Amino acid sequence: MVIRTPEQREDLLEAGRRFGIILETLAGEVRPGVTTKQLDIRAEELIRAGGDEPIFKGYQPEGARYPFPAALCISVNDEVVHGIPSDRVLKEGDIVSLDLGLSHNGMIVDSAVTVPVGKTDTKSYALMDTTRLALDAAIAASRVGNRIGDISHATEEAFKGTGFSVVKILGGHGVGEEVHEEPFVGNVGHPGTGPEIVPGMVLALEPIANIGRAGVHILRDGYTFATKDGSRSAHFEHTILIEENNTIVVTKRPSE
Ligand code: MG
Ligand code: MG
Repeated sequence: MVIRTPEQREDLLEAGRRFGIILETLAGEVRPGVTTKQLDIRAEELIRAGGDEPIFKGYQPEGARYPFPAALCISVNDEVVHGIPSDRVLKEGDIVSLDLGLSHNGMIVDSAVTVPVGKTDTKSYALMDTTRLALDAAIAASRVGNRIGDISHATEEAFKGTGFSVVKILGGHGVGEEVHEEPFVGNVGHPGTGPEIVPGMVLALEPIANIGRAGVHILRDGYTFATKDGSRSAHFEHTILIEENNTIVVTKRPSE
């Protein structure tokens, strides 16, 4: 969406402020022995405690056989995105992507982090660091005067020479009034192409990358994307608001 009024702007920023605290809280509760379902229950509790809505729960994307059954998408190790919470018990050394959406006064924000369960291996840390830096690069390219392709290109460039593979078929999107809005913000692309970035634009940027090859497929549940080669994957996402002279990271967490 494009923010038109001070009230919309205020609601969006408040949604993001609440969201940042919740995602940081959840990330802090990731530890060995916790099930992905327990984290989902916590996510929903935290969102509803503020009087807000967990917007992924019951969301049915085009082509899906059934609505998404949980508040939180939780994707472990070789799972890439859209993992469904279950009785799976997290183990020391796993890496876990937490992807959450919240609606506050009708304003939707969407953000994700990948965190280790306890301590993990050097390669997994490098994958997480690189993907987080790719999000920073995407945010830096998100400014008035640029085009969506400039964001995509900056994301792609951030993975060059790292040995990690950016997932090309998934990417960011407009957000605010709906979970997924135009434009699609690819994680690869050409500078100077695509829609112009204009003041008031709200975007969710989300680089996703694998230790091994870029190929991903959807598991039998119809939602979970996983790497084809079984290598681990990381995902970092923020909702941002473009303003005339700066870009606000709406879903920034308190520790960032
Ligand atoms: Mg998300
Ligand atoms: Mg998203």
